Amino acid sequence: MPRILITGGAGFLGSHLCDLFLREGFDVVCMDNFLTSSGENISHIRSDAFHFLKHDVTEYIHLAGPLDYILHFASPASPADYLRYPIQTLKVGSLGTHKALGLAREKNARFLLASTSEVYGDPLVHPQPETYAGNVETTCLRGVYDEAKRFGEAITMAYHRHHGLDTRIVRIFNTYGTRMRLDDGRALPNFIRQALLGEPMTVYGDGKQTRSFCYVTDLIKGIYDLLMSDEVLPVNIGNPEEITVLEAAEIVRKMTGSKSEILFEELPQNDPKVRQPDVRKATEVLGWKPGIGLEAGLKLCLPYFEQAVGTSEPAAVAAAS
Ligand code: UDP
Repeated sequence: MPRILITGGAGFLGSHLCDLFLREGFDVVCMDNFLTSSGENISHIRSDAFHFLKHDVTEYIHLAGPLDYILHFASPASPADYLRYPIQTLKVGSLGTHKALGLAREKNARFLLASTSEVYGDPLVHPQPETYAGNVETTCLRGVYDEAKRFGEAITMAYHRHHGLDTRIVRIFNTYGTRMRLDDGRALPNFIRQALLGEPMTVYGDGKQTRSFCYVTDLIKGIYDLLMSDEVLPVNIGNPEEITVLEAAEIVRKMTGSKSEILFEELPQNDPKVRQPDVRKATEVLGWKPGIGLEAGLKLCLPYFEQAVGTSEPAAVAAAS
């Protein structure tokens, strides 16, 4: 039975990856320090092949026994979270990636880094191919996440070139689906929660900035395909269907049948004006393509959000908004 370690395994994407690799017959070690998650996303797992380790990946990792793969997914990923935890975000992207790479080297495991479209910053090339070097301001507020991930890519490639480590890098674009926290702070969970509660839907700026939203199962499949491929250089995984943030809010309002008003709020600093993945490389190299459009994806995850809203304390939900 192959054995895989997933750092950040209790998070939104990490927990979906735990499920996928358990289904594929792997022994799964899930590591998390619960900085931006809880045990909730993994509480359904009842498998002898699943092992949970509460650990901060920036500290030395001791793991007995063999290991075939490491997926390094630990990091705050929502702008609201990484602005709340700037130092931890920089540490997990730098020190945490270093520790996870060291473990991969010790075990001779294949290593996959969860990178991000944020390495392109506020892009001047549109859509963004993997060859675009990006437009990131090191000292801006978002720089803590962008630079941590850029460093993560650099050290991953250094381990590959200098130590011959078998590595992969996925650049993840905006993703949504079940298991996102209601108070995650990202656009779609915010809009869905607000629409379901009949609260004003907070659109930042004029809402004309664009994003391209990928449903979680499409993304997870792309990550699996990349891990099993021979591609060492970064690969974008995301859905290229681009819409404005205001359109996204209106789609959520329509699909929830909500009467919420749209409330325009101040645009956060350095908020990228456009974002759309060029996924030609993923299609050519992995044969991967997203299959689930925004409305279909929302239909799949709305029951999860409805339940999450229904079971939350109203005061807690309000405080999170
Ligand atoms: N956004 C918004 N209202 C919200 C949350 C986010 O208008 O309640 C905007 C945000 O300013 C950005 C886009 O939606 O332009 C996507 O934001 P998100 O936090 O999901 O992630 P990002 O793509 O910026 O990393």
